[in-house]
Amino acid sequence: MINKIKENVWQLHFKEFGSCVYLIKLKELILIDTSSKECRNELLSDLKELKIKPEEIKIIILTHDHYDHIENNNLFTQAKIYSKRKIGQLNIPEFKFINAPGHSKEDICILYRNILFSGDVIFHNGYIGRTDFPESNPKKMQESLEKLKKIKFEILCPGHLF
Ligand SMILES: [Zn+2]
Repeated sequence: MINKIKENVWQLHFKEFGSCVYLIKLKELILIDTSSKECRNELLSDLKELKIKPEEIKIIILTHDHYDHIENNNLFTQAKIYSKRKIGQLNIPEFKFINAPGHSKEDICILYRNILFSGDVIFHNGYIGRTDFPESNPKKMQESLEKLKKIKFEILCPGHLF
């Protein structure tokens, strides 16, 4: 399902279990996360509805590397993939990247204008990401939540809508 967030920002969310995918149209077409393989067909049909071919996506930013956020990376053969480790190499002046580990080892959130793409760190209605995975760190999560409290945003675009 396609939900237009702003003039150049779309949220794609799916019936099957998998993360939301966000499409942002700047100079290049950018995706934030690519969801799970169960959502692959829905993702492809949503892109088709938006008249976007997978090979037109040039940049993928991963909020973290849990399977339900990354399993369709390989659909986007012309995209460069950036996660926390490589994010320093990505020059998009409109984006601010915020390290927010705790749910996993390497969570990042992305601030674009008044929109926060929060991955699995924070969700709507005050819910926060799980910290019971082996790679989680509840103490770091608390620090990340404190950090996010200081970020000013109006629209939350989380990794899952539930
Ligand atoms: Zn996750």
